Amino acid sequence: MSLPARPWCAAARLTPPEAYDPLVDFELTPEQREIQALARDFVRQEVEPHAAEWDRERRFPREALARLADLGLMGVCVPEAYGGAGADFLSYVLVLEELSRGDAGLGVTVAVHTSAVTLPLVRFGSEEQRARFVPPLARGEQLGAFCLTEPEAGSDAGALRTRAEPDGDGWRITGSKQWVTNGRYAGTFLLFARTDPQTPGPGGVSAFVLDAGHVRITRDEEKLGLNSSVTSDLVVEGARVGRDRLLHEEGKGFHVAMATLDAGRIGIAAQAVGIAQAAFDVARAYAKERHAFGRAIAEFQAIQHKLADMSTEIDAARLLVYRAAMLKERGEPHTEAGAKAKLYASEMARRQTAEAIQILGGYGYTKEFPVERYYRDAKVTEIYEGTSEIQRLVIARQILGLHAPAAV
Ligand SMILES: Cc1cc2nc3c(=O)[nH]c(=O)nc-3n(C[C@H](O)[C@H](O)[C@H](O)COP(=O)(O)OP(=O)(O)OC[C@H]3O[C@@H](n4cnc5c(N)ncnc54)[C@H](O)[C@@H]3O)c2cc1C
Repeated sequence: MSLPARPWCAAARLTPPEAYDPLVDFELTPEQREIQALARDFVRQEVEPHAAEWDRERRFPREALARLADLGLMGVCVPEAYGGAGADFLSYVLVLEELSRGDAGLGVTVAVHTSAVTLPLVRFGSEEQRARFVPPLARGEQLGAFCLTEPEAGSDAGALRTRAEPDGDGWRITGSKQWVTNGRYAGTFLLFARTDPQTPGPGGVSAFVLDAGHVRITRDEEKLGLNSSVTSDLVVEGARVGRDRLLHEEGKGFHVAMATLDAGRIGIAAQAVGIAQAAFDVARAYAKERHAFGRAIAEFQAIQHKLADMSTEIDAARLLVYRAAMLKERGEPHTEAGAKAKLYASEMARRQTAEAIQILGGYGYTKEFPVERYYRDAKVTEIYEGTSEIQRLVIARQILGLHAPAAV
């Protein structure tokens, strides 16, 4: 029997079968397990006992970052030739998940440092730039900061106004940047500025590598959560830079930014999974301990269903994250997979951290338990490195074969 020809049948067949590649190898390698265990032990011993205090005091945990550097986790997926540990991208994602399970602020500090600064320098830098800028970052001697967003250019990053005007054999950079994670403590800044004022939008943007001496931090943001991370505003006041600080080609900065965010989103998705896992762990333990109407609340079907949904959604998100990380590691297209992982994992984390509070009842709403912190920390994963609305836009354009968006 043959099906009658229909135009939509032909269109459906255009979807390449590799789009459904299930990537069914669920085993982590011994090295990945070892790195995961290293990060987990570190978090148990040196993060979990302090996370509530860091949150309450809005304290940037410099000592924890120094320990992460000792363990080689500030450049875990950076090639050994440039001072990194030489592990793969999935190993790095496992580290972010574990760190965020203990403290999501520490998670984003390491995520921005690694995938938004160090890795683009490895990927787009000249050999001279790699040798000069990457080792101090990979060894954790310096922190990296990524400066794309401006007061009037967030999702629409191509509208950025910071300008780099020609000056001799280089440029003079002037402008202001907002929401710079790590800004106050960073030594290396990946900063995007407009080199061609005649080309509006993404076309006239270039990427530069700046030092702390080129920028001035003007204030730190007060946030709903992620209180152990620092998020700063900064200005660049006519900083003079030579050609040696131009990353990739002039006018190709937006490509650098988009490629960076494609990978960075996988890290943020891992952060969301880590936060949700932490909330689940607390909620499950509490449900077995807490009694109401003469029995543990875990015996009520309503609570069981919440825990079942949490566990299922965390599993689903984790699989999306690991798939995206594996595609990136293999050098395959990962824009769509990364956006799906970030979209699902972040919305799942927001939903399920709220459910964790519900399982703990009134105690969940207090500082006595960490679930209210998880809830506050989870929310931002739906916003930075591209909001959920932008992730849907990215996914829709990929599956419809439309042009890449000019938004992050
Ligand atoms: C804690 C924190 C840390 C951050 N760290 C960094 C950092 O290190 N470096 C950096 O450069 N930036 C950073 N950001 C900035 C972050 O990436 C932006 O906040 C984010 O991209 C959204 O931009 P916006 O806040 O200007 O929102 P807007 O772009 O103004 O968006 C407002 C609303 O409009 C929606 N919207 C916008 N455009 C569209 C569209 N085309 N279709 C549908 N909906 C749309 C958005 O989804 C959102 O709901 C950080 C932000 C936070 C909160």
